Amino acid sequence: MRTTVTTLAVAALFVLPSTVATAQEAILSADKDAPKPPERVFKTDAEWQRLLSIDQFLVTRRKATEPAFSGRYATGHYKGKFLCVCCGAELFDARTKFESGTGWPSFWRPISARALARGYDRSTPELRIEVTCARCGAHLGHVFNDGPPPTGLRYCINSLALKLDGTPTRATSTRRASKTRSRTAKAAPSTP
Ligand SMILES: [Zn+2]
Repeated sequence: MRTTVTTLAVAALFVLPSTVATAQEAILSADKDAPKPPERVFKTDAEWQRLLSIDQFLVTRRKATEPAFSGRYATGHYKGKFLCVCCGAELFDARTKFESGTGWPSFWRPISARALARGYDRSTPELRIEVTCARCGAHLGHVFNDGPPPTGLRYCINSLALKLDGTPTRATSTRRASKTRSRTAKAAPSTP
């Protein structure tokens, strides 16, 4: 009997972790290069307003959406990393940026699984997954499941939420919106 109990106990040690692991834990454990969870950054609205432009504040702290093709990173290719415009956290490697044709910079994966936080966005009839900066909570955009291989994901991100730490590698063909349109971000949430 003791042998049987011992055997079961040993077996449980190997079986239990995989059965109780959540999907999120599986994603994190698969990302071997993921750094430790970032320390959170908290600031008041007044502090963010001092650090950001009006449009950057509306997008990142009020979940507004910039007009399609108005952002500086909507199209084009870059070398380097895209950082959170609010706190400077590394969010996306420029090598994972692709031309989605949507008018917003699109990436097929974040720089690490811990760089972004995800949540349900029920502000429109279409249920969407919102992505935010895991460090400061900045609204970035949304993630959709119609992206290219290898992930099949499309992180649709506002240019105004990003800051490039790098350089353009090819001429961009961004179709700039009118001055009036680009000066004030659209308040109504839409894609991304
Ligand atoms: Zn941030």
